Amino acid sequence: MISLQEARAFVLASLTPASPVVVALLAADGRVLATDITADEAIPPFANTAMDGFAVRSADSVGASDDEPVELSVVATLAAGQAPSAAVGPGEAIRIMTGAPMPDGADAVVMVERTRALAGDRVEILAEVAPGNHVRPAGDDLVPGQAVFAAGAVLGAGHLGVLASLGHAEVSVVPSPRVGVFSTGDELVEGSEPLRPGQIRDSNRITMLSLVAESGCEAVDLGRIPDDPDAIAAAIHLGVSTCDALLTTGGVSMGDFDYVKVVLDQIGTMRWMQIAVRPAKPLAFGTVERSDGVAVPVFGLPGNPVSSMVSFELFARPGLRAMMGHDADDLDRPQVMAVVDEPLHRRPDGKVHLDRVVVRYDRDDATFHLRSAGHQGSHQLTGMAGANGLAIVADGDTVEIGDVVPVMLLGPH
Ligand code: AMP
Ligand code: MG
Repeated sequence: MISLQEARAFVLASLTPASPVVVALLAADGRVLATDITADEAIPPFANTAMDGFAVRSADSVGASDDEPVELSVVATLAAGQAPSAAVGPGEAIRIMTGAPMPDGADAVVMVERTRALAGDRVEILAEVAPGNHVRPAGDDLVPGQAVFAAGAVLGAGHLGVLASLGHAEVSVVPSPRVGVFSTGDELVEGSEPLRPGQIRDSNRITMLSLVAESGCEAVDLGRIPDDPDAIAAAIHLGVSTCDALLTTGGVSMGDFDYVKVVLDQIGTMRWMQIAVRPAKPLAFGTVERSDGVAVPVFGLPGNPVSSMVSFELFARPGLRAMMGHDADDLDRPQVMAVVDEPLHRRPDGKVHLDRVVVRYDRDDATFHLRSAGHQGSHQLTGMAGANGLAIVADGDTVEIGDVVPVMLLGPH
């Protein structure tokens, strides 16, 4: 058996980010930026008002108060989107709406709540304002030539908004891989067809397709493949010719018909690992060369339904994220430390256990707490379904109430 760290390092060593592609902004959401972005325009492009109110000369407002208002003459009204057609002279004001450009002559804005409208285009100013009051100067957010985002940034809504503000319709990003998924096993059927003796329904393919899609990749369903070396070889060849990565389940254990590892070894470069974790001990990871010379990674995950999901979290998700250009410290789900609210039973066995747990953030003590999600067998998918975390339980004895353990957050908590 090898350690989790060693297995992970082995997988990650052969995965590199894909070549950048230029995509429309919306398609860049969640992708890793492939180039540095520098501002070539000022944001905001012009000085404008942050408030609805009156653009004034601050000097005119000196001494203004509720009791002693200053009266100004309103010479124009300026909406957002309009260019100023008049300047503000001494004793004058321009009615101005949020986002409208500051007119010449004015150096401050008095918000409408601190004014009183009078008849005949006149207004009373009820407060003294300093120069620059409620004015957003040009370049207040970005100035031309300023570094905006560095390559490697993970683009989210805010980034896309900044790029749109700068006039970018497209951006260069690391693309997400197309990931082919097939399940293996002679016992597998799907849908509602009645089960003949010995058969079970395929649950791994749907969980894997869902995890692949959720991790930001394009999931490609390559079907169910029997425990037949030729069929498995054909499925892998087809998969590598159309996908950037492959994910299979089953056929990587010690059984007589576990052919995935055998075939992968024959047609690619593969390492079959026994990893000191529970569940998800066996993993076959390798690469198969495509006709264009690209080495396509293949994750041969174990067949037990919980094992394949845990293996996905431990190896496939970080691997796929590495292909998507994420930093080495941003490959895994977030981890928090959590207080154990009920014992997590175990015995020393040389393995790290990934217990399916329910994590909850307690607002009263500002601490995460966890308890078992129930069924902990690697065949008991309901325990995984009910879990929103994987507690990372180091080798040793039962973890007692009050102990603190790291937990990988799988979902909302
Ligand atoms: P294997 O790794 O192929 O030996 O499979 C281990 C266990 O997982 C066996 O009990 C299989 O029946 C079960 N299994 C394998 N593939 C699937 C699948 N796609 N859906 C549900 N169970 C599976
Ligand atoms: Mg099998």
